Order: sequence, then structure tokens, then C-alpha cells
Amino acid sequence: LANELINASCLPFYLSSGQKCEIGLNIGAAAFPLDTTKAEELLQFADLADHSAKKQAVSNIKFYSKELVDASRQRIEMEDALREAISKNEFVLYLQPILDLTSGKIIKAEALIRWHHPSGDIIFPDAFIPLAEQTGLIIPIGKWVVKEACNILQKLSAINEEIQLSINLSPRQVNDRHLLEFIQDTISTAKVNPKHLELELTEGVVIDNYDKALLLLKGVRKLGIRVFIDDFGTGYSSLSYLQKLPIDGLKIDRTFVKQINKNSQDSESAIIRAVIALAQSLKLGVVAEGVETELQKDFLIQNNCNIVQGYLFSQPIPFDNFCQLLKK
Ligand code: C2E
Ligand code: MG
Ligand code: MG
Repeated sequence: LANELINASCLPFYLSSGQKCEIGLNIGAAAFPLDTTKAEELLQFADLADHSAKKQAVSNIKFYSKELVDASRQRIEMEDALREAISKNEFVLYLQPILDLTSGKIIKAEALIRWHHPSGDIIFPDAFIPLAEQTGLIIPIGKWVVKEACNILQKLSAINEEIQLSINLSPRQVNDRHLLEFIQDTISTAKVNPKHLELELTEGVVIDNYDKALLLLKGVRKLGIRVFIDDFGTGYSSLSYLQKLPIDGLKIDRTFVKQINKNSQDSESAIIRAVIALAQSLKLGVVAEGVETELQKDFLIQNNCNIVQGYLFSQPIPFDNFCQLLKK
């Protein structure tokens, strides 16, 4: 019945102007008497299932289940814990070096957030950034990242280490009207040279919020902050934005670097070679992410991509370890 309802509702219809319209339909269902015998609960359960159905892009039906309730409860608990993590300062920025292979020196670092959970576990960003995005908690977390990055730059400058630090921005942050002002205030209070700060945005973030992203990018570059496109090659195929947007470079996604191994054919390295050539002809910088083997390193040198980041050189590490690495 639900499928029939969806199929019937999703048929396109036409306005008198001739314009074609389509709607979507999501259905949440709970079973009587299997799930509950109480009317109010039945509606609540169906509502929960409907919320879950709406998360998918296409029209569909979702049934109430115990897993759904558990997931929803877990989400709420995680959200509370995240909120507490902000107030209790449980986040740490780890640094992963980015090297210039022509000099063999560390020229930059990427700041990658870690959550030092009270349980003793270190939680990786993939496990909490998406939820922080959905709930809006990414705004205060993102601000903390900007502040902490400026702290780190201050500390590096105090020991005469003039390297750049890049931070990651997610979609909601790009939509935040106050971000630019916040960055400007934070760097000027911390007396950080804007040239030392770099922002990383993915292609999707830029395309989905083109106007806002453009405004932000223009603003930050005016301050002297550099901008890189992260995970390049995994998002959109439209390349025209590369010419239009004020950006400084591309970070080749690690899935392309991974394809370089001793068995790889020319066709498998074609994309990475093309991306390097594309960046160079657009006079953009290019960084290869996820370099794990000597073979990949040699391939990149041969193909004129000398700025690299990956486990071959170092994992993301805490600030003190990073300073030791710099000394070496
Ligand atoms: P990303 O910006 O593309 O960061 C690179 C990810 O690749 C990092 O994962 C890094 O640890 C990992 N990586 C680096 N080298 C290698 C390698 O050689 N091999 C492999 N297999 N992986 C490597 P991480 O730290 O777990 O971060 C995941 C993602 O979370 C980041 O991807 C970024 O999108 C997001 N993220 C991290 N920190 C922040 C933050 O402060 N704010 C926001 N909004 N997002 C963040
Ligand atoms: Mg990044
Ligand atoms: Mg990346």
C-alpha cells in the first residue's frame, strides 16, 4: 500500500502554465498491535520512522524498529556529549606535516581535530563531524579550531618556525555569515601572520553554496589567507569553477594516490597526472594526500608534484611531537 501511495504521489503533474512539477513522499510506519497497542505511541513511532525515511534523498518508506530507537537515542547521547566536549575543552588539534620533496623540509601542517573522550578513547572526526554538522554544533567547534590553530601558530612563531597551518571547513561553516569576521578578529588578536593560515574546503562545499563560498573566499584571501580545494577529484566534474573561484591550490584526494602501486597500469595513474597538469596550467599549487609508499613518492616527484602529505612521512601527531619532528 505504501509503495502504491508513493508511486501515485510521485507522478509528475503540470501547472496551467505548462510547468512540470514533481513532489516526493516519505512514509513512516508503525505496526498495531506488534509495536504498541497505544494510539499515541503508535503515532510517535510512525513519526520517528518518518524522520528516518526523510533522511534519504528519494521517496521511500521506513518501518519503526528497535534499532531505529537505539540509533536515535545514541544520537541524542552523542549530541549531549559533544556539547559537553566543547565546554570542557576535550578537543585537540593533531598536526600532520606537509613536505616539499625538493628541499625535504616540512613547509606546512594540516590541523586535524581529535576528541579526547573522557572514557580515554580518541575519537576521529569522521565519527562526530557529520553529527556536529547536522546539529549546528560545528559552528562553535569550528570557532574553537580557528582559535586553537592561531594558538599553535603563535607557539610556532615563538620558536622561530615559520610554517603554514591549514584548517578544514565544513558546509555549515561556509554558510555562517560571521565566520569571516571571526577569523579576522582571531588572527589579529593572536597577532598571527595571515599568510601562515590556510583553509581547506571540499569541491562539494564550494559548489553547493557557490555565492556564499565566493564571498567568504574573496574575504579571506583579501586578508592574506590561502585557500585550497580538499579531496579534489571526488566531488563534481564541473571544472569551470576552478577558473572563477579565488583559490590557491588543490589537494589531490588520496584515492587517486592509492591507485599508484607496483601493478598499476598507465590508465590508473592517468587521473593523477591530469590533475597535476591541470593545476599547473591554472597556476595553482598542488598537494598529494595519502602518500604511503616510496613508489608513490617517486611517481609524484617524476610527475612534478613535490608537495606531499601522508603516513610515509608522518601520521597526524600532537603539537609536542610535531615540534620534535620539525627539529629533526
Ligand atoms: P581531510 O581533510 O581530507 O584530511 C585527511 C585525512 O586523511 C585525515 O583523516 C588524515 O589522518 C588522513 N590521512 C593522511 N595521510 C594518510 C595516509 O597516508 N593514508 C591514509 N589512509 N589516510 C591518511 P582524519 O584526521 O581522520 O580526518 C578525516 C576528515 O575529517 C578530514 O579529511 C576532514 O574532512 C575532517 N576534519 C578533520 N578535522 C576537521 C576540523 O577541524 N574541522 C572540520 N570541519 N573537519 C575536519
Ligand atoms: Mg583536509
Ligand atoms: Mg583531504
